[in-house]
Amino acid sequence: MRLGRRAGLVTLGVLMLFGELDAQPALPHEPFAMANQTVPPGQRRDFDLEVPAGNADPATRIPVTVFHGARPGPVLALTAGVHGYEFPPILAAQRLLDVIDPARLSGTVILVRLAHVAAFEERVPYLNPYDRKNLNHVFPGRPDGTQTERIAWALTTLVIHRSDMLVELHSGDGAEWLEEFVGIYGGPLATRYETSRAVGLAFGLRNVIRYSMDTREQIDSGRSANRQAVADGKPTVLVEIGENGRRDTSFVEPIVNGVLNALRVLEMLDGSPIPARPDTRWFDATASVHATTTGIFTPVGNRGYEVRKGALVGTVSDYSGRLLEKIVSPVNGYAMYGLAGPPVKAGESVVTIAIPAKGPQ
Ligand SMILES: [Zn+2]
Repeated sequence: MRLGRRAGLVTLGVLMLFGELDAQPALPHEPFAMANQTVPPGQRRDFDLEVPAGNADPATRIPVTVFHGARPGPVLALTAGVHGYEFPPILAAQRLLDVIDPARLSGTVILVRLAHVAAFEERVPYLNPYDRKNLNHVFPGRPDGTQTERIAWALTTLVIHRSDMLVELHSGDGAEWLEEFVGIYGGPLATRYETSRAVGLAFGLRNVIRYSMDTREQIDSGRSANRQAVADGKPTVLVEIGENGRRDTSFVEPIVNGVLNALRVLEMLDGSPIPARPDTRWFDATASVHATTTGIFTPVGNRGYEVRKGALVGTVSDYSGRLLEKIVSPVNGYAMYGLAGPPVKAGESVVTIAIPAKGPQ
């Protein structure tokens, strides 16, 4: 069911955020059907989306929870574990099971508790252990592809297509440092930037990056779950907290609190949202810096830092200790996340530099 059919039921604030007003009369609040489950209003169901076996790799499953609110409203998708070695979102999803009460909810939350089970169980950063593909580069996926592509297809067709908005939860991966940030999708090919902005700011993180979707190429090439949602016309937010395969509570709690605040911003939960922090730093886009050699990488920094064009961001040496490469920044900006190393391969990104915003926020 798309938002437009229910628009007569939702509150003015949500109408302003989702922007689809029509004159249809209110429908009775229906159960939420998904896969082979039917969730009555005011209840929750925990179940698996089944991903069938492929030609060369096994079946898998995607554990999800649907919280179907007692009152109607938008459908919000939250996805954790697209990268299976990024643990804080996966642990936050476990916490959210205890704190989202469908009896108090307006609308529906589809919580993908662990999108990429094989990568999690095998402790594989970035990639799927069977086909060695990055789930976040293969959307919309294929029903007859490799395991990674079949997982993407299930997420696209069963979760993203069913939702009015996507919030994708990530961390720095194994051997990646990361300063927490929110990514908000805007630009001419994105939809309802104001909704994404309001929900992104609800997470209360210091750094906000605006990704401007200007070309089809940007949306289509190596498409992520987020850009799948953009392609589907859904407001989209990326949340990045945590690093280096760690599971610290200090990474998990801001995700849980941010989701609850986002639900208040969307008027899916009662209560006043916590306002956006006054010291938010805004960035427009990012630039990646790559190694051109393979060996032992030593980063200049392992937490966010300001960097000038031409400044050193890291070195690569070979296994006999000989310096192979000094890597410098191509731009002025703020190093937001990067490779902790020590291994690096030629062509890999070693640091991502966010470009400070110039225009209005
Ligand atoms: Zn990730």
